Amino acid sequence: MGVVVDGCDNFATRLVVSDTCTAIGTPLTSAALGRFQGQVANFAGHLPGQACYRCWVGDAFDAEDCDTCAADGVLGAMVGMVGAFAAMSAIRVILQGKAALGDPQWGQLQLFDGLAPSMRTIRVPKDPECRGCNPA
Ligand SMILES: [Zn+2]
Repeated sequence: MGVVVDGCDNFATRLVVSDTCTAIGTPLTSAALGRFQGQVANFAGHLPGQACYRCWVGDAFDAEDCDTCAADGVLGAMVGMVGAFAAMSAIRVILQGKAALGDPQWGQLQLFDGLAPSMRTIRVPKDPECRGCNPA
């Protein structure tokens, strides 16, 4: 099984990558970072009942980016932490059904707070109105 790992620095590109993954039936490992907040999740919007990245962020970011790493800056150690976790998440997808580590945990968003520091998990529900993962 293939997987696309996205760590782009803007929402417009992220949404194009997500919509493309859903359209071609490829899982997406999404990693994002803004200052001291990091997010990592595996999405399988092509599967019934599973959310895509657009279910999480919505359509609002299509036309105009808001926060960017270039404007806000990022801490290298946070990039390393989030990037390594994204790599582990992608490995989970690749090993699905082949090893104990192979649980993609679709739609479970890992949120890192680098200031606290702390980590929590939230479940991204499939949005029945999402235009990324619901047939038109
Ligand atoms: Zn969706």
